[in-house]
Formats: sequence, C-alpha cells, structure tokens
Amino acid sequence: CGIVGVLGTHEVAPIIVEALKRLEYRGYDSAGIATVNDGVLDRRRAVGKLVNLSDLLVHDPLPGKSGIGHTRWATHGAPSVGNAHPHKAGPVAVVHNGIVENFRELRSELAEHGIGFETETDTETVALLTHHHMTQGMSTQDAALKTIARLEGAFALCFLFDGEDDLMIAARKGSPLAIGHGEGEMFVGSDALALSPMTNRVTYLEEGDCVILTRTSLQIRDAKGKLANRPIKTIQIDA
Ligand code: GLU
Repeated sequence: CGIVGVLGTHEVAPIIVEALKRLEYRGYDSAGIATVNDGVLDRRRAVGKLVNLSDLLVHDPLPGKSGIGHTRWATHGAPSVGNAHPHKAGPVAVVHNGIVENFRELRSELAEHGIGFETETDTETVALLTHHHMTQGMSTQDAALKTIARLEGAFALCFLFDGEDDLMIAARKGSPLAIGHGEGEMFVGSDALALSPMTNRVTYLEEGDCVILTRTSLQIRDAKGKLANRPIKTIQIDA
C-alpha cells in the first residue's frame, strides 16, 4: 500500500523504514525491504507493524545504499511473510501498490513455460514475467518495460535488481508515484510526504509513465513509450 525506493549515498534500510512510517496512515498488514549491497540483493519481510520489520533488521541487518521498501495491504493472498513484498524472481525484486487485474492470464502464460509460483499474490507475476523476459535475452530495462506494458489494472511499481547498484525502475498507472531528487541520490515514493525528510524537489509521474532511475539521472517514458519531460517542483511540507 506504500512504496519507497532509494538510490542513496548512505545505508538505506533505516531511511526506508522512516519513509514507510510516513506512509503508515494508509494502513497495512505487513512490510518488507530489499537492498543491493556490493551487487548482491537481499530482503527482509515481516507481518504486522513496522516495528516488527525494524526489530528483524536489528537482529539481521540489511546493508546497502540502494533499496526498495513496501507496506502491504493484502488484496491477493493472505497477510504472511511469504506474500509480503518485495517479491523476487531471479535477479528481479519488485514492490507494488494496487492490483494487477490480468495476473491469472499472465500466470497461465508463465506456467506454459514451466515457471512455478511461490506466493498467492498478483505481484509475484510481475517479478516472474520480468525475469522470464531476461532469460529470453532482453536487457534488464527492456524486460521491465515490456512487463509493465502487459499489466492491466491500477498500480504503482518499483523494481530493484541483483547485480545493479545504480538502477531502479518505477511505473504508475492509476496509483500516484513521486520521484525525489537529492544530491547524487534519487528517491521514489507513493507520495511526496514520504520523501520530505530526504528532499523537497519532486517530480510527479503522470498516468502511464515509466521511469528509469540512476543516482544522477532519470529517463521518463510516457504511456506511448515516448521520452517525456516532467517538471521538478519544489514543495513545502511541514515535517
Ligand atoms: N495486490 C498486492 C498484494 O496483495 C499489493 C497490495 C498493496 O497495494 O499493498 O500483495
């Protein structure tokens, strides 16, 4: 129900937990984080309040300066650690707000390729389909964009990849998503409020936009796949 992504210059796990707290007002039943550290992606997930995730991180820290986080309000699959986001398939990790309406159809397609499922969520299909495109020889970026183009429903997504310390891909269709600009850092959030401790320079994605982010660049493609320019706004939020 809440999404945060950070390509940062400091350890991101605590920053992501703080940002997720600012999205608590939306309600949630579980939470999770994935980071890339020295090129290796790992994740931690917990049911219940964010404090359960922070406790887990105390005992089992998650280093890394790139990461994505999520608070989940389950729509498909019970609230459980296994169904909590980020979902992962091969090198692909993804967090998701909303519903992928055509996930059953996508699941059948994947099943025809002998691809199995570990969760009951609609979201896992997004990770699996992206990984499947990569196994067919597509670049990370093309694989994610091709997957996003196949998805029906109202959603926001943020991807992180094993082996990629400086890449995040995000998309919005029906759910809001904001990009925050830092000094050599880039942020993604369900709303600008979540990002306000990190930056007040924000780009709001428009309906159907996909964005490819590094720490120093962003490339936005509109619903038709054309390169798009969106303004950077300086916002005032009382933190
Ligand atoms: N449909 C997804 C799930 O049930 C995402 C729900 C959400 O927005 O948190 O896991």
